[in-house]
Amino acid sequence: MSTISNVSAEKVRAILADASTPGPNRQVTISVRGQQVTVDCPPWCTHPHDETYRTLDDVSHHSDEISLTTPSYRGATEQALTARLSVWPFADDPETDHPFIAFDAVGDEYAQLTPAAFTAFADQVIAHGYALRALAAVITSGATPAPRSGVEL
Ligand SMILES: [Zn+2]
Repeated sequence: MSTISNVSAEKVRAILADASTPGPNRQVTISVRGQQVTVDCPPWCTHPHDETYRTLDDVSHHSDEISLTTPSYRGATEQALTARLSVWPFADDPETDHPFIAFDAVGDEYAQLTPAAFTAFADQVIAHGYALRALAAVITSGATPAPRSGVEL
């Protein structure tokens, strides 16, 4: 699976358009305990399916990941807000047997979010982006930050 970082807005739009207007599933042949089995694979899946699965429950589909490259100490960068589409169609688990967004905010663990929950979070990210711009504007506009309240020297 490849990871996309520092992607252009155009590339993100293309990924989202592919995911939101899915074409027909394709068929892939996988190996389950040495048996060749043909299963449906969603059009957004980029997983190679080249592993040998123990059971059908282990079969999963994943899109490419998107992430935000963020600046870190002394010019280093970190990946944040990593997300991909995933599904375990035979898992018999209501949280994973339908496509969901696997979301890892800070390189720790993946949350499993519904499209509605992830859209609500994306709205928060957009609002945070405006707050970040406003923070920079405090310096670039020459405005002085509000004085601390309750501090007596
Ligand atoms: Zn697949």
